Amino acid sequence: MSNEFDAKALRERAKQIAEQRRAERRARKRKCVLCGAEESDKVPLGPHPDGIGPSCKDEIGCQQRRAAAGR
Ligand SMILES: [Zn+2]
Repeated sequence: MSNEFDAKALRERAKQIAEQRRAERRARKRKCVLCGAEESDKVPLGPHPDGIGPSCKDEIGCQQRRAAAGR
């Protein structure tokens, strides 16, 4: 049954793509949703209290970066 085979191949392909996306997401650095700073040792990110995404744990630093960026 070639149809069955195709479906299996498609599932395998989808799985590969999903794994690739997961790996890419892991490699990519998270950014603060407020000031756009990349996560680093100097800029630790934590979950935003409103649940909108990662944001700086250092609120003052975040505010300063936002002011500097004109946001
Ligand atoms: Zn920030």
